[in-house]
Amino acid sequence: MSEKLKSLQQYLEKMNRFNHVANLLYWDLRTVAPKEGFERHADAMTYFSTEAFQMGTSEELGSLLAELSVPEEYEKLDDKWKFVVKKMKEDYDRDKRIPKELYERFVRAQAESEHAWEEAKNTSDYAVFAPHLKEMIALTKEITAYTDPDKEVYDALLNQYEEGMDSATIDHIFGELKKELVPLVEQILAAKEPDDSKFHGSFDVDAQAKVQKMLLDYIGFSWEKGAVGTTEHPFTLNFSSKDVRITNHYYEDMPISSMFSAIHEGGHAIFEQNVNPEYDGTIAGSCRYMGLHESQSRFYENVLGRNKNFWLPIYEKLGELLPQFKEITLDEFYREINHVRNSFIRTEADELTYCFHIIIRYEIEKAIFREGVSVEELPALWNRKMQEYLKITPANDAEGILQDMHWSGGSFGYFPSYLLGSIYDGMYLEQIEKDLGSIDTILAEGRILEITKWLNEKIHRFGSTRTPKETLSAVCGKEVTAEPIIRYFKEKYTKVYGLEK
Ligand code: ZN
Repeated sequence: MSEKLKSLQQYLEKMNRFNHVANLLYWDLRTVAPKEGFERHADAMTYFSTEAFQMGTSEELGSLLAELSVPEEYEKLDDKWKFVVKKMKEDYDRDKRIPKELYERFVRAQAESEHAWEEAKNTSDYAVFAPHLKEMIALTKEITAYTDPDKEVYDALLNQYEEGMDSATIDHIFGELKKELVPLVEQILAAKEPDDSKFHGSFDVDAQAKVQKMLLDYIGFSWEKGAVGTTEHPFTLNFSSKDVRITNHYYEDMPISSMFSAIHEGGHAIFEQNVNPEYDGTIAGSCRYMGLHESQSRFYENVLGRNKNFWLPIYEKLGELLPQFKEITLDEFYREINHVRNSFIRTEADELTYCFHIIIRYEIEKAIFREGVSVEELPALWNRKMQEYLKITPANDAEGILQDMHWSGGSFGYFPSYLLGSIYDGMYLEQIEKDLGSIDTILAEGRILEITKWLNEKIHRFGSTRTPKETLSAVCGKEVTAEPIIRYFKEKYTKVYGLEK
């Protein structure tokens, strides 16, 4: 191995230690740290993450990457290090183009904006958040002009979260989905609604935690390489492929919520746990593409978890852990986990109307960055779109435009990732059935781990080394298309709701 590569490795090892501690403090803060210990914890966390950030943007790292990028050095690298050096250099050059003063202004504005958003949401007062949102949009435009001078700003933002994606492609695939989904949902809502009275009541939270354990075991989460915690909002955090943590939130009156959060975060975790361990400690070792990541969590949550056959081998066990479920038939449960209704909150939406929640946000982001729609006009635009797609109007902005935190932190262009994930899922489903046979049969026979193994081999082990586009091409042999997910939606819901074909 060349001396230069050895220097880079040593540099990364040191940087990883700072990141590791910062991550550990973050985990502790969110899961168990007592309120009064917050300040010292946050202070230490800021110290370690700032150190890591500075190492990631230092002159020393810049010259190491430049030296390794010279053709004669670069050609000596193996595939893994070729990827790492190339991507790190791209990221480094990109970040370096942002003037330090501008970056600091962004970080400060971001903290203030997130804080203002929280207050605005709690009091449902958009006016509190509006000036901050305006500032975040302006700063995002300014930064993007430095990072991606050759790209149109919204395309640059999309590309940051899902490499290779642009709005022309999204317009096309979301458009196809919209065309088919609008009449399908209309048909469903005109049909008889399932009775959900058995799902109201009080469900023991400790028992819900046991259900989570059972579900994670079932789908292939490794406890040797993972741990769980409880937080306000569920999330996944990974240290390396050998230590991936997930969290959940248990609501006494909503047992289904924690089951599906467990399966969703479990899907993210299974991805990270199964990345080639040789990639640990480098940017190849964790999936950096948000749509691709969501495609895994959503595959487990929706395509597998909302299939009746998924529950067939474990439904009795569920009744043993949560006795109320003994009184609920699998059919009733299946109807409820696929209960379609127009609702205000994205994170509580069913698999079908969820698509509209994302399309609304995507269209608004385009209106902001393409059409220059002002911040003052956004709540009305939001409500108009809710009426257009979901036929309901929020009573206030807290259950409308203020519900998600993404924009407050400057994450514009992130929302489409969720729906892209589902679109990829339709494609994987089609391919799995070609390779392994009917998914209904595999699930009904309790062979779900064969599906996990397929995903491990085809997608997970590559970490970040294959872009979403490369993944689809290698796994499904084609470019992104909404056609399979549309077929899946139509077939499934025609049956669930007994619709006329
Ligand atoms: Zn997710």
